Amino acid sequence: MRVGLIGWRGMVGSVLLERMREESDFSGIEPVFFSTSNAGGAAPQEAGGAPLRDARNLKDLSSCEVLISCQGGEYTTEIYPLLRKSSWGGYWIDAASTLRMSDDAVIILDPVNADVIRQGLARGIRTFAGGNCTVSLMLMAMVGLFKTDLVEWVTTMTYQAASGAGAAKMLELVKQMEWLSDPTRKSPSENALEVDRMVINAQRSTSLPVTEFGVPLAGSLIPWIDKEMPGGQTREEWKGMAEGNKILGLDPPVPIDGICVRIGTMRCHSQALTIKLKKDVPIADIEQLLAGAHEWIRVIPNTKESSVRCLTPTAVSGTLNVPIGRLHELNIGPEYLGAFTVGDQLLWGAAEPLRRMLGILREHLG
Ligand code: NAP
Repeated sequence: MRVGLIGWRGMVGSVLLERMREESDFSGIEPVFFSTSNAGGAAPQEAGGAPLRDARNLKDLSSCEVLISCQGGEYTTEIYPLLRKSSWGGYWIDAASTLRMSDDAVIILDPVNADVIRQGLARGIRTFAGGNCTVSLMLMAMVGLFKTDLVEWVTTMTYQAASGAGAAKMLELVKQMEWLSDPTRKSPSENALEVDRMVINAQRSTSLPVTEFGVPLAGSLIPWIDKEMPGGQTREEWKGMAEGNKILGLDPPVPIDGICVRIGTMRCHSQALTIKLKKDVPIADIEQLLAGAHEWIRVIPNTKESSVRCLTPTAVSGTLNVPIGRLHELNIGPEYLGAFTVGDQLLWGAAEPLRRMLGILREHLG
């Protein structure tokens, strides 16, 4: 099987490559590496010495039975229709949002919707898109409640890492962190108010690197992710209900909404959930339903010690575990459940469903 990889240098692509190496996914396939910026340059070792191909060369792309793109939405918008028009009949697996809501595409998250993926393959679907990272992580955490039809609606208030916006933004966050700590390194002080003034001055300085985010993120937050939508939502918030219900194949859809916030963490998206259940269910039963959903879920006891140790980006980063905790009935009423979850958005929120889809395809095609 000839498998083309586009966007392997980016945040999602490099994690995908790492995971494919760890899981020996390259054995038995012929990988072809493409680039939008460096055709002819050196490709990863798996290319066996072959140079990078031009990611806009339709002939080279069409020579692959499977194309996996982590290049981003603009690339997909430009190249995908041309490829399909050229009668390329291969399988397209994409991290970008461009094709997710198309009737010809299935959103992939197989621990949650393996049945929808297999039905899609049986129907002849050849386009598979990874879901929005926050939505995928929310479903990975909560699927046990959705599958038992217990959820009336959900609000999700998110705390999303810089790397969710790509490699360049993650690098800018680190530059901002260095800039903020620079004055206190040069003039150390034990006076907290003085240190606070130094930091806020550095954040408000016109020299702070903000090319990517436009505003300071280090030591701050940004309560807006993606484009504006009608009705006051951002596009990131809109994806919760649209993609969440498509992934689960729910009709009528379950209302899902909230506020998405970028925070100054490097990796992992966290979410505070308010879940309106269809009936009052004891917490012990809820824990059991959540825990039984798949092998990566970790139900964290609602204690201070477990929560601060296990429910943080620092604990979860780089792992496939999806912890959910802080589970308790809210004062609002017995059917209102509070929860908090954290997941590595570069793994289950991006790269992992792509590499697993390649595995499903290999099985499907024999
Ligand atoms: P990214 O890090 O910005 O990488 C995309 C492309 O940008 C790379 O393939 C590379 O293309 C180019 N690039 C420019 N500057 C770069 C640099 N300093 N380091 C590495 N590459 C650089 O984007 P991404 O976060 O991987 O996202 C790719 C797609 O996945 C997007 O559609 C995004 O919405 C989606 N997605 C992302 C996440 C996430 O957590 N980041 C999660 C789910 C879905 P060339 O090598 O061709 O120049």
